[in-house]
Amino acid sequence: MIPFLNLQAAYLELKQPIDEAISRVLSSGWYVLGPEVEAFEAEFADYCGVRHCVGVANGLDALTLALRALEVGPGDEVIVPSNTYIATWLAVSAVGASPVPVEPDPATHNIDPTRIEAAITSRTKVLLPVHLYGQPADLDPILGLATRHGLRVVEDAAQAHGARYKGRKIGGHGDIVCWSFYPGKNLGAMGDAGAITTQNFELAERVAMLRNYGSREKYVNEVQGVNSRLDPLQAAVLRVKLQVLDEWTERRRAIAGVYSEALVGTKLILPHVPEWADPAWHLYVVRSQRRDALQAALKEAGVGTLIHYPIPPHRQGAYAAAGFTADAFPLASRFADEVLSLPIGPHLSATSIEPILRDLI
Ligand SMILES: *Cc1c(COP(=O)(O)O)cnc(C)c1O
Repeated sequence: MIPFLNLQAAYLELKQPIDEAISRVLSSGWYVLGPEVEAFEAEFADYCGVRHCVGVANGLDALTLALRALEVGPGDEVIVPSNTYIATWLAVSAVGASPVPVEPDPATHNIDPTRIEAAITSRTKVLLPVHLYGQPADLDPILGLATRHGLRVVEDAAQAHGARYKGRKIGGHGDIVCWSFYPGKNLGAMGDAGAITTQNFELAERVAMLRNYGSREKYVNEVQGVNSRLDPLQAAVLRVKLQVLDEWTERRRAIAGVYSEALVGTKLILPHVPEWADPAWHLYVVRSQRRDALQAALKEAGVGTLIHYPIPPHRQGAYAAAGFTADAFPLASRFADEVLSLPIGPHLSATSIEPILRDLI
């Protein structure tokens, strides 16, 4: 049996340092924000090579608070990928703005920069690329468009911890970069957690204020904020796991290498890695017109796979009122029918996946 993911194995590998970290927080008597959160923020900013990190409660809040910090609100438009996890869109809707979807580059599955300009209107405030599956989006043309049109760039990096674009780590290209530390992510907590990173001090301060009741100073509330603080217990776990992130990314890279070498020449469409991209390999996603049969055969053989994602946001009930027709975004729809995520993660080694390949070749 090869499970798609095994979070317990990841914990057991780090059991002693994680247990010690949790115990340290329990004994500290400090349970909201404080030194553990500040230490993680400093260490993650350093890891990303950026000036500021602000921990929040989850990835969706990171995106929502990033948009609020940029004063995006009702009447504004935010350009999002048609092909993404729905959280990207939900953050835009949560601040009262409208998500304006743009189709992906079929080779990379990420937003196609050549299609963005046609979607920009006088209401557009932000371009919101996603580094889907841990593959960096093509940021330079996106940042160029933002400069030309006076827009801000927020990145959804929930799947891209440690990924590099043209040699530089994701984390400080756009105005605000948003992270999720959901347990299944490459850097995963033992519960919900998230953060933003930025090079901009004012934006970092603004998110820090918004996550804590709109307050910089206790009982002084400058704006109507929310309670979305990174839990110190999660921060302590994340500090332990950050230390092995690069090593675990290497395991993912090795697995991806084995898949790509073994599956070249099959009918599967394999992940395409542009020469400027150094992916974090959150997911290894193949495409096939026989996807459902392939998934069933793998299941029969004891191999767990998942579909990221089976229903694109524009076809979800959550966006019924937006009035998108089912065929409005044909590439996003087609990918939903064709994508299949093969097992990848720190619980697997490059050799342990070989039995999977027999069913795929
Ligand atoms: C996981 C994820 C999110 C949301 O993160 P949560 O911590 O679950 O709120 C947002 N965007 C993408 C692309 C994700 O994969």
